[in-house]
Amino acid sequence: MSTKELDWGNLGFAYHVTDKRFVAYYKDGKWDEGHLTDDPMITMSEDAGVLQYSQSVFEGLKAYRTEDGHVVAFRPDLNAARMYEGAQYLEMPPFPQDRFIDAVVETVRGNLDWVPPYGSGATLYIRPYMFGISPVIGVKPADEYMFRIFCTPVGPYFKGGAKPISVRISDFDRAAPRGTGHIKAGLNYAMSLHAIVDAHNKGFAENIYLDPGTRTKIEETGGANIIFVDHDGNLVIPKSSSILPSITRRSLVDVAKTYLGLKVNEREVALSEVKGGAFTECGLCGTAAVISPVGRIDDHGEEIAFPSGMEKMGPVLTKLYDTLTGIQMGRLEAPAGWIKVIA
Ligand SMILES: *Cc1c(COP(=O)(O)O)cnc(C)c1O
Repeated sequence: MSTKELDWGNLGFAYHVTDKRFVAYYKDGKWDEGHLTDDPMITMSEDAGVLQYSQSVFEGLKAYRTEDGHVVAFRPDLNAARMYEGAQYLEMPPFPQDRFIDAVVETVRGNLDWVPPYGSGATLYIRPYMFGISPVIGVKPADEYMFRIFCTPVGPYFKGGAKPISVRISDFDRAAPRGTGHIKAGLNYAMSLHAIVDAHNKGFAENIYLDPGTRTKIEETGGANIIFVDHDGNLVIPKSSSILPSITRRSLVDVAKTYLGLKVNEREVALSEVKGGAFTECGLCGTAAVISPVGRIDDHGEEIAFPSGMEKMGPVLTKLYDTLTGIQMGRLEAPAGWIKVIA
């Protein structure tokens, strides 16, 4: 059982310093063994590559306590693969994927008391990341890198049920065509901060970014992919090379097909279709919330309201949400390889 005395139901999404974190160091062309440490602080050069030119990628996944008392992680192999590709794209030495999974397991085992109890709605959020740490002054990749993983307990994303949110079509762009939108790089988040603060100030929970090339097609929000349900009850997934390949979204697509017998159409989605009422439900998906229902989208004062309304998640997204969270929490049998048992 969890032994830390925390108010699990009221944690929110915040950083708590936990007991152990994993650190590995890349130098002279190779990664060292890595180890767990108690020290949450990092000392680095004032000229570290990450500080000057944002050479960093990160990941986010969760460990869950299941109904039968195990601690599991959800598809960490996909996080390992995504970080591997992101690192290569930013000219960083990728951290080996099998070692990534081992390090996730080791870090969670070092913090088992911080894994929230089953049924609390809270989970242990795991944050792997790596960055250039050696001095860089001309624009080039660093010579030395640090790979780390910490974890922090996070509260239920929705207190008192998943209430639909209002989002807006953003005038800002998130990711250039052929840019870095498809990798989980810190720089993509830095440039979203102004847009999200501005959206919040205007009463919107999130920004929907359009494709910067034509500004006619739906891409995603700052930190979550978008999914739609059409009038036949099938799933429609916006397709673009600058969308971050969400593991939650890819899992929902599989769940829709194999558990729920839905058709899934991954294709370009025009904003005009959304305005024209092509969809009955809309949701944002990612590790943090699994699915956040979208009740309405504001396009410069013009309101696009989904039939599912502002009271609760629509029926198709609810089925998807229940099935995927059932798999994650061990209430439903998972497809082979989706659940990594940690303890
Ligand atoms: C992390 C992230 C997501 C969600 O991905 P998951 O793997 O499902 O957590 C979606 N969009 C962006 C831009 C992200 O950074």
